[in-house]
Amino acid sequence: MDETRRRAYLEAMDISLWQPRFAASPTSSTPAVMPAAAPASAVIMEQSVESTVIHPAPAPIVEVIPPAPMIETAAPVIAAPDWNTLIARVSACRACGLCEQRTQTVFGSGKRDAALMFIGEAPGAEEDQTGEPFVGRAGKLLTAIVRAMGLEREQIYIANVVKCRPPDNRNPHPDEIAACAEYLREQVALIQPRMMLALGGVAGQSLLHTTETVGALRGRWFTFGETKIPLRVTYHPAYLLRSPNQKVKVWNDLVAVLERMNVQS
Ligand code: SF4
Repeated sequence: MDETRRRAYLEAMDISLWQPRFAASPTSSTPAVMPAAAPASAVIMEQSVESTVIHPAPAPIVEVIPPAPMIETAAPVIAAPDWNTLIARVSACRACGLCEQRTQTVFGSGKRDAALMFIGEAPGAEEDQTGEPFVGRAGKLLTAIVRAMGLEREQIYIANVVKCRPPDNRNPHPDEIAACAEYLREQVALIQPRMMLALGGVAGQSLLHTTETVGALRGRWFTFGETKIPLRVTYHPAYLLRSPNQKVKVWNDLVAVLERMNVQS
């Protein structure tokens, strides 16, 4: 993606930067999936994601995130699944009460061998109607975020912790998350992403089996279960719509992911 287009997407996300902490070497090889260069700090602007009016950016805000040890999770060993069987099982699932009011299950979407996997908490009303994860306003912001990373949505895989919409968009209950957990583990086993990003506290807590808040979880590296896939936690796009001043933290999380993926490529 050229620089002009990338900046346009960042502006669409209401993020303006910018002083990169690093620059891609002109002699370095370009990663297969991830962009060669990514901005390293951001300044959040006042407008909503739909706004097209961009204010001049004030001085860059640089958030210093201390290094943290890798934390292991306790997911069980994953059996080798196959896509069609898994999709059919999810579609027919009635393992928890969320099946009662769903229009349809929301399995997930994206590249089946994506290097990067995003995981949210649960489908909302529009997702329940369309069968696609992250549509609506939060979905549009997520698309802007992905594009700001130099990627398209089709290059990543997006799924939720639970595959059916909780009534009134409440958080899924622990028993519902537990009932649905194997499906997500099997999705991860099929995709085998190089990195995972949990969107929001519910997703982060579910994947890491913790009660720590998203504010406490973000800024640190974890691994997911037996797979040892590096996992990061950041805020949910729906939260960013309510609290746009938190976008800078999300952007810092994304930069950390990009930097690590570039290092590993
Ligand atoms: Fe099955 Fe998951 Fe839907 Fe519950 S949320 S009915 S476990 S697919």
